[in-house]
Amino acid sequence: MSASAVIQGDNAVTAIESVLANALLPDGRRAHVDLAGGRVAAIRAAAEPAGGTGVPVLDLAGALLLPGLCDGHLHLDKTLLGLPWVPHQAEPNRMSRIETDKKVLPNLPLKTAERAVNLIRRCVAQGSAHLRTHVDIDLESGLSKLEGVLEARARCAEFATVQIVAFPQSGVMRRPGTLALLDAAVGAGAALVGGIDPLEIDRDPKGQLDGIFAIAERRGVGLDIHLHEPGDMGLFNVQEICARTRAAGLQGKVTISHGFCLGDVPERKARAAAEAMAAAGVALVTHGAAGWALPPIAMLRQAGVTVFAGNDDIRDTWSPYGTGDVLARAALIGWRADFRRDDEVMIAYDLVTDAAARAMGIAEYGIKVGAPANFFTVAADCVPEAVAGHPPRQLVFHRGRIVAEDGAALDRPAVPGAGRAGRN
Ligand SMILES: [Zn+2]
Repeated sequence: MSASAVIQGDNAVTAIESVLANALLPDGRRAHVDLAGGRVAAIRAAAEPAGGTGVPVLDLAGALLLPGLCDGHLHLDKTLLGLPWVPHQAEPNRMSRIETDKKVLPNLPLKTAERAVNLIRRCVAQGSAHLRTHVDIDLESGLSKLEGVLEARARCAEFATVQIVAFPQSGVMRRPGTLALLDAAVGAGAALVGGIDPLEIDRDPKGQLDGIFAIAERRGVGLDIHLHEPGDMGLFNVQEICARTRAAGLQGKVTISHGFCLGDVPERKARAAAEAMAAAGVALVTHGAAGWALPPIAMLRQAGVTVFAGNDDIRDTWSPYGTGDVLARAALIGWRADFRRDDEVMIAYDLVTDAAARAMGIAEYGIKVGAPANFFTVAADCVPEAVAGHPPRQLVFHRGRIVAEDGAALDRPAVPGAGRAGRN
């Protein structure tokens, strides 16, 4: 098939709009990738001519082309990006951080939407195509942070997808009225219901978990529950979450965020929890938190648990660290897990690509014909090199358009090869 050919199928007739020539694919092939309608129209051997009459061609010159990354755990509403440096103010415990948010965030000179746009663009510039963000829902701020993040998502719709978790950061049962707000948040656009430490924060695991699962069932959405609780306390709630997931028929739609307990109990207990999670289709998202044992990623995967990764806090009221680079996050997790061989480094890669897409319910993921054309390029010879060294992102594509170049998001998406200054 030549690059100017017309693709026919499903009653659609779409002309090839541009060609990414001489790409190195993750499987080592060199190929031309034809784009049409924001999707991959064809993947052709690089030995063929790259272009056809009048079709813009962008020569990738052998750069490694990888699928757009998935960041499975963010807090877009908390970031301080765009402001002058703000020193960390909270005491070193979770309750102080929760209370500090309430003092700091409402009084910032930049609104939630502006700061969230800044962080989305920072993530996009480093190859992320799909983001899952938790957004605080509490009695003081109601749905205002959600409204800010919804505005940011709309403004960045051509750059990335954003999945929102209605997150009861301050607790649920200890703050009567929160369940109704979570329900309203789902009605207003959140795709998942959140939860937090049902014992440690709420001292009422049955109340919190029954409440948030009831919303998920009624609204037909999934859940993503922050579980920082250590040891047997955390394991108790893992089992409670798995039991409710099965009872509600929500297999494949529930995530435990962090699950630190899985890393700090004897292997026998962690294995029993992993088997329960696999049987219930409950996924785990990790960010390789400092100060906690890393969950046993390889064991969890072997047991059949979908494990994925995200950045969590990025230059915000909870942590001054973070760049938005989820490939670097995968490398950090791989380093902490002591993944060295290529097959192990590929596990780190899976945490921010296929496994994350599966957990986040992103259909048609990956570089394949018919799938949305979401990619990025790096100077690397193979995927393990890209993960281990996470070199600068060169070009980022979303829905067939260039959305970032040389580490910066563009003002508006551009057609690859269509006479732009720079890499043509
Ligand atoms: Zn979090």
